[in-house]
Amino acid sequence: MQNKAFHRLLSQLKKLTPTQTKQLQNHIKQKCSIKTIEEVTGFADNCPHCGSTIFYKWGVRSGIQRYKCIACNKTFNTLTKTPLARLRHKEVWKKYAQDLINGITIEKSAEHCKVANRTSFRWRHRMLEASQDVKAKKLHGIVELDETHFLKSEKGNHNLDREPHKRGGWAKQGQYTPVLIARDRNGNMTDAVLRNSQDGTISEVMLELLDRRDVLLCSDSKSSYRSFALMFDFEHETINAGKEHTRGIYHVQNVNAYGSRLKRWLVRFHGVSTKYLDSYLGWMRIIDTQKGLTADDLLRLIARHREEKKIFPPLTRI
Ligand SMILES: [Zn+2]
Repeated sequence: MQNKAFHRLLSQLKKLTPTQTKQLQNHIKQKCSIKTIEEVTGFADNCPHCGSTIFYKWGVRSGIQRYKCIACNKTFNTLTKTPLARLRHKEVWKKYAQDLINGITIEKSAEHCKVANRTSFRWRHRMLEASQDVKAKKLHGIVELDETHFLKSEKGNHNLDREPHKRGGWAKQGQYTPVLIARDRNGNMTDAVLRNSQDGTISEVMLELLDRRDVLLCSDSKSSYRSFALMFDFEHETINAGKEHTRGIYHVQNVNAYGSRLKRWLVRFHGVSTKYLDSYLGWMRIIDTQKGLTADDLLRLIARHREEKKIFPPLTRI
């Protein structure tokens, strides 16, 4: 806007009614917040459709700069093909991201950010899509393994023909979902929901992370660890928890401690639906491994996640 026109606009402000002033205030507040979001997530550096770096500006939509790619002729913005694409109410994303860091429930976040529960649910699961990649891609040296178990839950699954949940008593075998936690001594960690606790399921989630020549496995004496090590020829030290907690440098205290922190953290959600357990594991990984994470950092992390292009470096904590 030219200077002269801007001053003309300013001179018009005194004619506004109190309601119009309020509307203008809200509009400016929203515009400022949106700008901040784009500054946080960064500006486009390539076309998310074809990867080309040759594109030009193509107007502004929903407060975000739009671009048009010369190579494929498609339009995009900095959030296209990220978990944040086409989500509304950008002005409260930062607040919502801070709630994620603080481990706030869907309902409380909805209330805090003044959005519907349904919106809060959608945002949570969209934002946590990115966390699926926030895990070590390789583990080195002494690798501790431990399994922890979560009661299977159909929370959120409606219209299911099932027996009502009986409170109290012990759950039967098969009513638990096993989660494998693995961590090396450099702080690289990962976890994964196992199909079951039988021998053979560990290789499905761990094999590609481990190099036989570089790794020594450390676990309790459960048969599934022994058979995995034997089958794929890994060096393996077992700790018999009934008799000893450590044997020299061999122990599983880091994975045990993580498992305990995870269980304590999940208590606030009063039972997590098994189908979303993976998302919650990712959520905890982000919080636990990224100390000092700010809402801006988290939004940047999410906005860098693209459907077809996984660009997260493995997380480390030394
Ligand atoms: Zn393109």
